[in-house]
Amino acid sequence: MSRFSALKAIYDFYDEFTNGLSIACQKGCHVCCTTNVTATSLETDYLIQSGKMDKHLLKKMEEERQKDHFIPSTTINTTAALCLAQKAIPEETSSQTFEPCPLLDENGLCSVYEYRPFSCRAMCSDTVCTEGGQANMPPFLVTVNLALYQILEHIDREGWYGNLLDMIPLSLAGRERAGNLAVDQEGTIKTNRQLPCFIVPPDDKIRFKSFMRRLGSQSADEITLAELLPEEYSILS
Ligand code: SF4
Repeated sequence: MSRFSALKAIYDFYDEFTNGLSIACQKGCHVCCTTNVTATSLETDYLIQSGKMDKHLLKKMEEERQKDHFIPSTTINTTAALCLAQKAIPEETSSQTFEPCPLLDENGLCSVYEYRPFSCRAMCSDTVCTEGGQANMPPFLVTVNLALYQILEHIDREGWYGNLLDMIPLSLAGRERAGNLAVDQEGTIKTNRQLPCFIVPPDDKIRFKSFMRRLGSQSADEITLAELLPEEYSILS
């Protein structure tokens, strides 16, 4: 299964899953479309290869990148590994800025909707958000989202993670040069790592296993998603 096929299979499965939930999000609602969006390098590679990022959008992204913006302190799988080892998790030291995402068009729609990263897809709310308000996410969706962040990082474990603004130049540079860029920007770009375990609250375990069985059975290029995951992983409680 190619990396892009796996990514698309995960996106499609997740979109179908959330379509089955009672979600208040509507077309044109963009309260959560801010410069705090994060992505893996696989996701920004997928976005760049789509051809949707024209010169105008790239310029807007670069202008916003030059301003203060949120930089995640670590990756999700690094956090899970620290939890597993019962070690302290680094606190977020960078503030979220809540500037509008440069990829929003003049009608408040996403210019790259089909290719938007998972962190955009994951921002679902079961109540209508007010300006400056927060998404109200059903608890099981929080569990599922966390697991999918982890899986996306795992299938891109040779890659990197960061704010979407910082990840675009990495993907434009191409994989060979991206490694050097990531080292140069060590404080901004984080190195992905493999899935150490899932973090699942006790009440969600049965439902989560059922969700994972369905996700794992998705296939592309005659390979299932389950075959891309480690054979053994533990579930923290
Ligand atoms: S990429 Fe698209 S969906 Fe994501 S924050 Fe930007 S405009 Fe919104």
